[in-house]
Amino acid sequence: MRPPLHVRVDLHPDALLDPAALRRAAATAAGLPEAAVAGVELVHRAIDARRGKVRIHAELALRLGDEVAARPRLQPPVLTNMSGEPSVAIVGAGPAGMFCAWGLARAGIRAVVLERGREVRARRHDLASLSQRGELVADSNYCFGEGGAGTFSDGKLYTRASKRGPVRLVLQALAGYGAPADILVDARPHIGTNRLPRVITAMREHLADAGASIRFEARVDALLTGPGGQVRGLRLQSGDEVPAAAVVVAPGHSARDVQRWLRAAGVRLAFKPFALGVRVEHPQALIDRLQYGSLAGHPALGAASYRLVEQTPGGAVFSFCMCPGGFIVPAATDPGMQVVNGMSPSARHGRFANSGLVTEVGAAHLARAGLDPADPLAGVAYQAALEAAAYAAGGGGFVAPAQGLADLAHGRASRELPATSYHRGLAPARLDLLLGELGPPLQHALRALGARMPGFLGPDAVAVGLESRTSCPVRVERDPETLESPGTPGLYPSGEGAGFAGGIVSAALDGLRVAEAVARRLGGRAEAVTADW
Ligand SMILES: Cc1cc2nc3c(=O)[nH]c(=O)nc-3n(C[C@H](O)[C@H](O)[C@H](O)COP(=O)(O)OP(=O)(O)OC[C@H]3O[C@@H](n4cnc5c(N)ncnc54)[C@H](O)[C@@H]3O)c2cc1C
Repeated sequence: MRPPLHVRVDLHPDALLDPAALRRAAATAAGLPEAAVAGVELVHRAIDARRGKVRIHAELALRLGDEVAARPRLQPPVLTNMSGEPSVAIVGAGPAGMFCAWGLARAGIRAVVLERGREVRARRHDLASLSQRGELVADSNYCFGEGGAGTFSDGKLYTRASKRGPVRLVLQALAGYGAPADILVDARPHIGTNRLPRVITAMREHLADAGASIRFEARVDALLTGPGGQVRGLRLQSGDEVPAAAVVVAPGHSARDVQRWLRAAGVRLAFKPFALGVRVEHPQALIDRLQYGSLAGHPALGAASYRLVEQTPGGAVFSFCMCPGGFIVPAATDPGMQVVNGMSPSARHGRFANSGLVTEVGAAHLARAGLDPADPLAGVAYQAALEAAAYAAGGGGFVAPAQGLADLAHGRASRELPATSYHRGLAPARLDLLLGELGPPLQHALRALGARMPGFLGPDAVAVGLESRTSCPVRVERDPETLESPGTPGLYPSGEGAGFAGGIVSAALDGLRVAEAVARRLGGRAEAVTADW
């Protein structure tokens, strides 16, 4: 059987809702009479709303006769059963840690994943007590727990990572565990907070059935090393020791305790520039109008998103982790620190649109704040000082300090704040002053955006503090070839917390890369880690 013929077409959004129009467009692009086309499948779809005109760039697969359908496989690969003691211990059940365990399982190597937080279902209760009563559970919150920081998120699955690696394989695995097949078609795929937990649970159960061990409420408190710094294993908070020939550390951007015990064990760390700012919120209807004009609300388009970058004299300001139709959530991991982030349900049908608006913090910022950029944890100190100030400005209980967006742009106090999706509530505060030298670049960018996008600084727009956990301010050094930490043989830093990823997919890709490196070292089937199935 022949493979189907593929064509690329530019479509009006209406065509996505009309199979006859899709067939007509496919036939015209292929130079064929319509009657010759037996069927059409959408293989790829990207919304282009630039230059005030909305088009869909699509790739279509045409069936003219008996070609095989272009349908993707929606089953995960078979994992062969593993037995014996696990030889690899992984810190963290986020995308980096779980995809590392998955890759190792494909290579025939049994791993134990140690996760400080609770499994996804129990974690929901801890999030509810945080959102409803302001009670933070230190080891189970929006950053810690099964699935990692992205479990309760928008579940955006695109990556800007330059060395992208097998992105398709990651998406296919997620679809195999129950993510909607659309993620294999959309240019900007997302899963949504209501569906992600199911996918994560299915992946964990599949791994556990194959013999991997996944332990929850198992916080790791120390790295155990032997002669020459060789890794021996890990010690848990309970005092239990977990011996391992190789240790993968994938603790995410918020595990400040892990940074401290890595430093205490002599592991090489360095400051890594990161970004910090506020989360801005608008009515979704305004963003739809700004992006789609008269096509706002079109059923083929869904809730509009944006990506903004503004160069300012104080540095670049950019939007981060935009959540259409979503909610602002309290993402702190420590008492007395105010941090926000965003999430959306899969339908993205909420009233509000939110996004981080941040600017980079580099070594010069640390030096001006009286911190030593040579100290690997100086960035964490900078971040924590602002988070503590934001908590105080909100008045406690994870109430967020907030400022009308126009007031922030022009350096004025807000007397009133608009409605928000943030459950803990908002308290008026001078975020422009609280942010210190990061305030002026944000103000400059907001004024420019307000001039370009009518309504962006309107009375319904608000800035909410603090968007501070955009990435990890620490890098755990690793050898570019072996991926081991120099001076600590057998230690493999991975994912966002080690400074090698910035999002769900890039963390998963990094976990796979590390799985290959560990498999090579331990004599497993490294080539099987990213093999197609
Ligand atoms: C609310 C929110 C929304 C987000 N939305 C998106 C999005 O839509 N798309 C996107 O690409 N990215 C999103 N991100 C970012 C994304 O979640 C991260 O980039 C990604 O999860 C990083 O993966 P990771 O595996 O490196 O670390 P994490 O996902 O942070 O996982 C690390 C895990 O390690 C565990 N851990 C930490 N310390 C220890 C210890 N001492 N012992 C045992 N376990 C430990 C943590 O509990 C955690 O589960 C979002 C983040 C948040 C907080």
